[in-house]
Amino acid sequence: MDLFKKIYAYDTAKKAKEAGYYPYFHELTSKQDTVVHMEGREVIMIGSNNYLGLTSHPEVIQAAVDATLKYGTGVSGSRFLNGTLNLHKEFETELAEFLNKEDCTIFSTGFQSNLGIISAIAGRNDIIFSDKENHASIYDGTRLSYAEVIRFEHADMKDLEEKLAKAPENKGKLIITDGVFSMSGEIAKLPEIVSLAKKYGARVMVDDAHGLGVMGARGRGTAEHFGLEKEVDIIMGTFSKSLASLGGYVAASHEVVDYIRHNSRPYIFSAAIPAANAAAALQALRILKREPERVQALHDIAEYMRQGLKSKGLKIKDSKTPIVPIYTYMPIRTMVACNQLFEQGVYVNPVIPPATPIGECLIRTSYTATHTREQIDQAIDRISEVLTSLEGFNE
Ligand code: PMP
Repeated sequence: MDLFKKIYAYDTAKKAKEAGYYPYFHELTSKQDTVVHMEGREVIMIGSNNYLGLTSHPEVIQAAVDATLKYGTGVSGSRFLNGTLNLHKEFETELAEFLNKEDCTIFSTGFQSNLGIISAIAGRNDIIFSDKENHASIYDGTRLSYAEVIRFEHADMKDLEEKLAKAPENKGKLIITDGVFSMSGEIAKLPEIVSLAKKYGARVMVDDAHGLGVMGARGRGTAEHFGLEKEVDIIMGTFSKSLASLGGYVAASHEVVDYIRHNSRPYIFSAAIPAANAAAALQALRILKREPERVQALHDIAEYMRQGLKSKGLKIKDSKTPIVPIYTYMPIRTMVACNQLFEQGVYVNPVIPPATPIGECLIRTSYTATHTREQIDQAIDRISEVLTSLEGFNE
């Protein structure tokens, strides 16, 4: 049989394009910001993870330019060999200190960090306990490791405990959870997870892609929010959201990070991030340290949005984070809503199967510390108009 048979048979995207509700790959012709230019339109952006509004910050841009002039465009090699810049080391030291961890190292992306951390630390004699709503990169990281993988029901501590209790004494155990769940904006039940980990001798890893710059009084993340920085063994994160760049990291004890440095295939056999990415993220971190009020501004604007959407009678997931999902229930309705909103000058993201069950589709909206209330008011009006006009449209 021809391997390409399934490829030739795949027509979902084509059908959506023909029917005019294909919502993906819109092209930007401007910086990522609270208002962007896309395909000739000015659009309010409430679909990015630019939580602190630093992607267009002059100091962040300048840091990337200066670093490129000094170090060139790429490092052409792995951190392990020729690709380590003193800038990488400077950044790792500052980030470890910020996260209250002994050590830290940088991967090329957040996705790769999860692949590289999990596959390095969980081996044949280990069991990984992973929340069912964890990010795709955690799913893939667990598949890449040789450990047994046990998925527990989302945020269900009773289920997690039952599963931990059944695990043999002589197995290494790792509990992995998103700190802030990427689609729903829910916060992980870290205190309960940490106490179960203590009870059953497990280690805890938190994916804080959506926690850094968002959670905790100073934006140090979900562990800071709960005062559990010491208890969480491994914090993983990304530079592609609050830190306005590209790259990922692991922060943990010196022994754990050093083990990863010497045993992680996605880390060793892949080139390091270019200076521009490292310098931009480092400058963004410095701005976060200098201006922690950005974190509060982010929560304030998200709360303003939640209240506005509720006042229009729209059904939202009542998160406490800058991720505010709005229920659209059915897949085609969701894509049509996203497209109509785009035409009305508001960019949002569709969440449809397999990211969510069929009757629970959402539009995922997410906010930036620098959004103005006027922008948010406009977005609320447009969303309300579009979703009301689609009432009863349940395809
Ligand atoms: N973890 C989570 C929870 C994420 O949401 C994402 C990105 N959406 C990643 C990891 C991957 O990060 P990156 O974009 O840096 O690859």
